[in-house]
Amino acid sequence: MIYRIVAPEAGEILVSPKTGSVSLAYNGNPIDYFDRDGRLLGSQVGDRHYRRGLDNRLLEKYRPPEEGEHVRNEVPEPARQRLITAAYERAGMLADAVSRSSIECRPTHPSDMALPLSAREALAGFLNPILAQGFERLCVEAMEFQRMYAPVSILPPDQYLSVVAQLTTGCSYNRCTFCNFYKSRGFTVKSADEFRRHLSEVVSFPATFARLRKSVFLADGNALSLPHTKLLEMFGVLHEFFSFVPSQVCEIRERYAYRKSHPHSYEGVFSFVDGRAAMEKTVDDFRELKEQHLRRVYVGLESGDDALLTFVRKPATRSEIIDAVRRMKTAGLNVGVIAMVGVGGDRFASTHVEETINAINAMELGDGDIVYLSDFVNHRGLPYERLARERGIRDLTSLELKTQRNGIRAGLRWKDPGKPAQVSLYDIREFIY
Ligand code: SF4
Repeated sequence: MIYRIVAPEAGEILVSPKTGSVSLAYNGNPIDYFDRDGRLLGSQVGDRHYRRGLDNRLLEKYRPPEEGEHVRNEVPEPARQRLITAAYERAGMLADAVSRSSIECRPTHPSDMALPLSAREALAGFLNPILAQGFERLCVEAMEFQRMYAPVSILPPDQYLSVVAQLTTGCSYNRCTFCNFYKSRGFTVKSADEFRRHLSEVVSFPATFARLRKSVFLADGNALSLPHTKLLEMFGVLHEFFSFVPSQVCEIRERYAYRKSHPHSYEGVFSFVDGRAAMEKTVDDFRELKEQHLRRVYVGLESGDDALLTFVRKPATRSEIIDAVRRMKTAGLNVGVIAMVGVGGDRFASTHVEETINAINAMELGDGDIVYLSDFVNHRGLPYERLARERGIRDLTSLELKTQRNGIRAGLRWKDPGKPAQVSLYDIREFIY
């Protein structure tokens, strides 16, 4: 159902509830997005898009006039407080308007016709949680979040709204020359009791346990690198805190219906692994993890060109990664394969495209798998920057990046052409948890 409120002083406001979230659009723009407990998720104000993280940081993205490149910033104070507060003030104004204005309801689903609440009652149900929140409360929640978690440095885009279960911190390898996700911390592994304490905090923390979150992400960088028996023990601990949609419920529609009737059940467990760590797992290991509701594993292929993989010091070769992915697929898992667009600059461009296509095609991906094309970011001060400079390697221009991205995409083939994998963009600069 979409609710249309026409207020004399404020114009048209559309309230669009979704499972786990609600958007409020004021004359088309600005638009604010909240979770169903009233936390601001993000806003669109003019041509600027904002996303708020649980640590209360605010990321801004926009495209300046006359320039092709998006600008992405973390919003500094006092602009951050002003933007977040403004979203809550708009909601307050809307709540006032609801009591005095005409409300039109536009059903968006057949079941909307039988809704038991009046429009005003339904709107109060969406707006009251928002009115109970505000900048100060979000700050308090952010402090609690930072106490519970080491910084959540990165997730795959389809997992931005997962519940993160931080079994490990850092990356067990941590030597890729371009990667800055975990440079500030070593690799640590929680004991079963520490993991239990962490999860008991996570499930009692309302922001991570909100209805919006559909899956559990086993973090950090390389949690699946743990020895198999230890991993099984830790999956056992996960099951003490989370329940999952049974794997025999296969169809998306059925899984959705199951989750609706079991509101505290999750789609499954998702996690990263590097190619070398994945090499140490057998098909049976992966099968056992699947039985424990592991659903999709994300692997950074980055490139199919072995010379480039050596140059950036990835831990595994192209054939090792292909082999590991095939074993996961044989075990019935889905995979997310990440290829970097532009890594290796002008020097490696042609072999990178050709060999990356060949490597991904050799994985025989299909329905339920994802190929992420992630633009390479040359972080200042990391070894890649120095090594590339020493070898006279130039970063690609945005036009060259686009050509490379399109070239890789055009070359991809699937095991069954009728059941393709999803191909999506992955911009690590836009991540916020
Ligand atoms: S394996 Fe992944 S997380 Fe670890 S250093 Fe390399 S790119 Fe970063």
